[in-house]
Amino acid sequence: MAQQLCKMRTHKACGRGIYANTDIKPGKVLHQSEPFVYALREECADSHCHACFKAIVDVDRCKVCTKCNKVRYCSEACYSKAAAVHDLECELFQSLGDKRNLTPTMLLMLRWWFKSGKNGSSPCATTKMLSDHGTRIMDDAKKSKEFQLIIDGMTHIIRSHLLDASQCNDSTEFDRIHSLLSSYLFKISTNVFSITNDDLDVIGIGLYPGAALFNHSCSPNAVAVFEGANLVVRSIQAIKEKDAICIAYIDLDGDSTSRRNKLRDSYFFDCFCDRCGDSQKPSTAADNQEDNQYDAKSKSLIVRGDDLEKVWRTTYKPLAEDVHKYAHKAYLARLDGCPSTPKSTQATKTFHENFQQLRTFQLDLIDQQLFSCALECAKFLQGAYEYVYGQCHPVTAQNLHVIVKLMTHTMDAQSNIREVCALTQKCVTATSIARGDEHPISKEVRGKLMELQSVAGRC
Ligand SMILES: [Zn+2]
Ligand SMILES: [Zn+2]
Ligand SMILES: [Zn+2]
Repeated sequence: MAQQLCKMRTHKACGRGIYANTDIKPGKVLHQSEPFVYALREECADSHCHACFKAIVDVDRCKVCTKCNKVRYCSEACYSKAAAVHDLECELFQSLGDKRNLTPTMLLMLRWWFKSGKNGSSPCATTKMLSDHGTRIMDDAKKSKEFQLIIDGMTHIIRSHLLDASQCNDSTEFDRIHSLLSSYLFKISTNVFSITNDDLDVIGIGLYPGAALFNHSCSPNAVAVFEGANLVVRSIQAIKEKDAICIAYIDLDGDSTSRRNKLRDSYFFDCFCDRCGDSQKPSTAADNQEDNQYDAKSKSLIVRGDDLEKVWRTTYKPLAEDVHKYAHKAYLARLDGCPSTPKSTQATKTFHENFQQLRTFQLDLIDQQLFSCALECAKFLQGAYEYVYGQCHPVTAQNLHVIVKLMTHTMDAQSNIREVCALTQKCVTATSIARGDEHPISKEVRGKLMELQSVAGRC
């Protein structure tokens, strides 16, 4: 089972991490866990169940906590499951009333506090193993100010609402709470996961101590996805025995400089993964040649007019063709065992910027119901998704899902049914690997594929 596929090890050169115990195929479940502490984003607090994190669809069955009037559940079952935990904080929510201005991070600290009980000993041993960059955070003037405010605010809330009078005036007790909350926040800041829904929108945050032990790579061989509030780590590439299993801590949609800066700033390490390479190394002739293949176009392309279709034809389509050609070449270079991404900052920056702009523009086209332009755009971008995220990453699978939906929507007698079937098959494979066979989207596209194959059979 899952535990036998990988295991935590301490590697001399790479440090602690999760390594494969055996050869692993893509699409295998490597780790599953419930959150230790978790909280919904403020924007989702009224639309999602606070226990299972599913969207509340049936308003009649929805249960709202009648005492604090703040917390809602999708069903009686979720309500009773969460009651014991919520009761602890419900009273605090009531006394804070409208002043309750707790961010998801603060809620995580508070919930960790409740879980640890009076003596502060965490019920989850793995939380002790989580990385804590407290010293480095406090050495950074801007960060330390920001963190200090949160820690002081939470210490104040706990002192004034959750302690009895004698504890409140005890300065050693104050120091103890303060340092406990500091360590919670430091650990949360570098180990927290963004929880996403089926559409990959972020709906909350959570701490999953077991999953936090996976290391990072910008070309990850595994991915963390969510089923409600539960986290599942799946392999998205074939992994060899003894290989490190890595997930991505950041969105990969950025050039190597911006990725490295983001990792250094939030996670305090320099990334030397295959894609980032060694920044000390001067760029080689091959790298430069590869750069030159991306003929960087103008960066300021935000042209918004009423006639989006015309803007697509004249401005964005040539750009999408460029991005497509470049991604395809660079992707093949990586498949050929050349691990270098383009080293010229100008070229990579423009490639990633153009890719980001086109993704936004594709959404605009869909919004305006210009489905055939959106389909063209999505097809051009597919190679870039594979290049940036990998072939079976959930984000790549999501673009394929958009392609399938747009293709079936815009299909007519002239449509090439074989192409539709081939791309739907590709979507089925990527989605099953990234999200699992039982995921609603996997089931949906499998059903679509069967329909299309029976139409193709009749042609
Ligand atoms: Zn629920
Ligand atoms: Zn309540
Ligand atoms: Zn990297």
